[in-house]
Amino acid sequence: MSANLPPLVFATNNANKLAEVQAMLANEYRIVTLSDIGFYDDIPEPYPTFRGNAWTKAQTVFEQTGYDCFAEDTGLVVDALQGEPGVLSARYAGEPSNARNNIELVLQRMQDITHRQARFVTVIALLQKGEIHYFEGTVEGTIRHEASGEGGFGYDPIFQPNGYTITFSEMPKSEKNRISHRAKAVAQLVDFLKKTTAE
Ligand code: IMP
Repeated sequence: MSANLPPLVFATNNANKLAEVQAMLANEYRIVTLSDIGFYDDIPEPYPTFRGNAWTKAQTVFEQTGYDCFAEDTGLVVDALQGEPGVLSARYAGEPSNARNNIELVLQRMQDITHRQARFVTVIALLQKGEIHYFEGTVEGTIRHEASGEGGFGYDPIFQPNGYTITFSEMPKSEKNRISHRAKAVAQLVDFLKKTTAE
């Protein structure tokens, strides 16, 4: 990573998300984390929408540090569960957040369900020069009957993207980072930043 790249604050404490976004922006920006700017608080996510939660993370970091930044909120949206886990994805099986328990709960609630269509949704909120901009990425897929694979994080072991016969957990990181919800939202963020810095 070159020190000459422009810095960009990513308002997250999630090491997995950071690693994915850092890999996607490796040639464009030097990602600065919350710990790099001395921010260690846990930001509540009280809103019923991904957009609301992404916004509150970016806004809170800006208010407390003065840095322009972007934040993201992601969740798994399952048709047969009326959109759950959705914004509750991190703590679907309760506190503290536990990926294995969350997966177990989804599988249990879908035990007898044949319609297994679902999607990951990422919303990025960019707070720049006092204005907020949103970028959204989704990836369609199905929920497996059992967890499979060691890679990735969160619900990756039960999510099989359309067009594949393997889960997100079973594919190389580089492949997930090429097709994922987060990749699509980050690509839009980068396009926007390129346009606005060129103006
Ligand atoms: P939040 O965006 O930090 O609220 O995280 C929401 C939840 O979705 C967490 O439980 C994550 O583990 C899960 N999650 C977020 N991104 C992904 C992903 O790319 N794959 C699988 N699970 C994810």
